[in-house]
Amino acid sequence: MAVVGAGPIGLAIAWRCAARGLRVVVHDPAPGSGASAVAAGMLAPVAEAYFGERQLTELLLASAARWPTFAAELTEATGADIGYRTEGTLMVGLTGDDLAEAGRLWAYQQGLGLPVTRLRPTELRDREPALAPRVRGGALAPTDHQVDPRLLLPALRTAAQRAGAVLVPHAVRHLSDVHARVTVVAAGCGAAALTGLPVRPVKGQVLRLRAPDGVAPGFRHVIRGYADGEPVYLVPRADGEVVLGATVEERSDTTVTVGAVQRLLRAGVDLLPELAEYDLVEATAGLRPGTPDNAPILGPLPGRPDVLAATGHHRHGIVLTPITADLIADLVLTGVPDPLLASFPPDRFVGAADGGGPEPTMEGDRWS
Ligand SMILES: Cc1cc2nc3c(=O)[nH]c(=O)nc-3n(C[C@H](O)[C@H](O)[C@H](O)COP(=O)(O)OP(=O)(O)OC[C@H]3O[C@@H](n4cnc5c(N)ncnc54)[C@H](O)[C@@H]3O)c2cc1C
Repeated sequence: MAVVGAGPIGLAIAWRCAARGLRVVVHDPAPGSGASAVAAGMLAPVAEAYFGERQLTELLLASAARWPTFAAELTEATGADIGYRTEGTLMVGLTGDDLAEAGRLWAYQQGLGLPVTRLRPTELRDREPALAPRVRGGALAPTDHQVDPRLLLPALRTAAQRAGAVLVPHAVRHLSDVHARVTVVAAGCGAAALTGLPVRPVKGQVLRLRAPDGVAPGFRHVIRGYADGEPVYLVPRADGEVVLGATVEERSDTTVTVGAVQRLLRAGVDLLPELAEYDLVEATAGLRPGTPDNAPILGPLPGRPDVLAATGHHRHGIVLTPITADLIADLVLTGVPDPLLASFPPDRFVGAADGGGPEPTMEGDRWS
């Protein structure tokens, strides 16, 4: 079989398929150079359970449940630390208006039966004393975890190669150039040109900060919140790094703009004043592979049972890596689609008047 794209999705599929005995060739001129190179790595099916996305939420929850085993297997296969951390996520609102906005979402998430516990300001600061005294309230999502994509990608590559997958360093221009019984298109934003599927780039600018003197950041949870209407997240790593993100822009360039950096820094420092003393070490932008309904595209192309799409993971490609790899590997090996795939077929966009399928949802209040 062939896999086009060596991001988290393509590499994990290659690993799972090669480990089950298939001969796998992965095509990518620059493995790991896509959206995952800037991604924060939040595994946040609860905090990212949004109105009107029930099926996607179920897939996110199912994939997050596979993460502990997936991480353990990957570490066993490679010996690599992938920065998998389970302290949980604190969701906060800086002002009364921010809290009201976030509270609507928390109530929705609680209504789905998800583990979201409202916390008063004192309870928040008991958990994270570094939070600004101005923070008006929040909620804990203890099962929303994190991994470091910059550690995950090399580990996936090693695991795939150790299982026997071969990486070929060139781009695929046409699917007809790939000769394999089954081809999996896992090329992120590159999938659109290869397949015609409605995958569009959604730009995200993100900053990387570093605690002074090489110490760990002064907070342990992932912190997500609104600060004066600005959605922002802060992801602490054990080595002192903090990922501060991210914008959500309907653009395909990867320039970093002064306005975005200013807004992210202001929101981050408003929530955690100690960040003002941190080093600003990187400002980057990546392109999320977005789809019209924000959900991934998984399964055979219409009329092409030999070409499987595994793309369109948008803001969720890291959390969705384990389930995507398992479902696509099962499909390749057995030819039988798992029922979980039924909600995400490529042909759900066929015939839509604008070629784009369902109406896009509002994205202005999203984080990752
Ligand atoms: C700012 C930001 C923050 C994010 N935060 C999170 C987060 O916290 N949690 C989360 O779950 N997700 C997050 N994401 C989303 C996540 O990064 C993506 O969903 C994920 O990387 C998609 O994986 P992928 O393998 O499909 O694509 P990519 O990671 O984009 O990789 C695609 C690969 O395909 C290759 N390729 C492209 N075209 C071709 C071609 N024609 N031939 C050969 N190879 C090709 C590229 O070189 C690349 O290596 C974030 C994304 C951004 C931008």
